[in-house]
Amino acid sequence: MVSTDASSTKAALTDELVAKVTSPDNGEQTSNRLETDWNPDEMALAAQTIERIAAGWKDRSRAVQMLQALCGLAAGDPDRLNPDLAAENWGFRATDIGEELRRRWPKIPGVNSWADNPETAKAKMNEHWPKLGDIWERQKPTIEDGLRAEGLPVAIALYRDEGGGSGNYTKYGFRIDARAEPGHSASDIDLLRVPQVQYRHQDISGNRLVRWMSDRGLYLGGWGGKVFLSVFLLLLIFTVVWSWLVIVAMGASSSTVAFLKLGLIGGLTIVIFYSLFAWQLRLVANRVAVAPMLLQPWAGDDYLLELRKKDGAKRNTMYLVRYAADCPICGEHGKDAIRVASGRWEFFGRLVGRCDRAPNAHVFSFDHITQTGRFLR
Ligand SMILES: [Zn+2]
Repeated sequence: MVSTDASSTKAALTDELVAKVTSPDNGEQTSNRLETDWNPDEMALAAQTIERIAAGWKDRSRAVQMLQALCGLAAGDPDRLNPDLAAENWGFRATDIGEELRRRWPKIPGVNSWADNPETAKAKMNEHWPKLGDIWERQKPTIEDGLRAEGLPVAIALYRDEGGGSGNYTKYGFRIDARAEPGHSASDIDLLRVPQVQYRHQDISGNRLVRWMSDRGLYLGGWGGKVFLSVFLLLLIFTVVWSWLVIVAMGASSSTVAFLKLGLIGGLTIVIFYSLFAWQLRLVANRVAVAPMLLQPWAGDDYLLELRKKDGAKRNTMYLVRYAADCPICGEHGKDAIRVASGRWEFFGRLVGRCDRAPNAHVFSFDHITQTGRFLR
């Protein structure tokens, strides 16, 4: 039951396409476009595009040929896939697909009975349709990117209507499910003009020490602050004395093995010293630093320590904070995706905002005073 006057249908479609372009878009179609916004040109163009994409696949299986035949049918008579149609009129039958396969590849074994015998056609479809479903799933990103490149930001799905009751045939076709949000696609962003990001404070959760550090902060002029500073002063003195002893012992060691052992101890001392004090030096120098492991949550490392001076206070208060921002490059997927992290070697000694989705490409500066950042790539 293929439309025989495909050429005249196509001509009519072209006229309609021109009319469609000139009419202003109401811009509020979203997911429920199934009933409200059926456009046969869109379906025809989508079908042609999918067929072209499928022709480029290495997979030349029967299932892929079936897809190409179905695309050909849909492009020739897209109105058959109008979701408003009654079930008995919607879609293409198994024999329609067989007929199209015979027209394209007459040498396929058994294609004649696929085109002429509904029972055989049904069996063939039942055999190959699930395989096509798997291929479709695997190729979905390729298909969607190809459609977007054609200016069709739609999600399209294979669809089979089981027919049911007596005399009703199973029908095959495509369904346009939802329109991807226009204007949010990553390729729309001009990388030379990435907008600023705005950091927001985020909730902090954890043990009592962590909560206390985030709610009240540690006033370094109070008794808690004095205990904190004294403990670290003691640790600092101990580490310095210990390192000195190790160096003296290395100089006095009698054998190479003893010398290397002491060197190992010295190396470990440096690592421990670094993990204990480096963040404090960075905190004092920059007034914000990544918090030490002890204060980090299990899943994550974006807690920061920040020094703030309250109005009228003599000394700083140390707060545990966490910031997040939306990634403008990732658009709707980038909500809260930017976390503050180390600048690594490239931005040595500073903190940067890194997008969870592309931590080494979507990199932004981080200013804890203005809570803004600009694109650094
Ligand atoms: Zn991003």
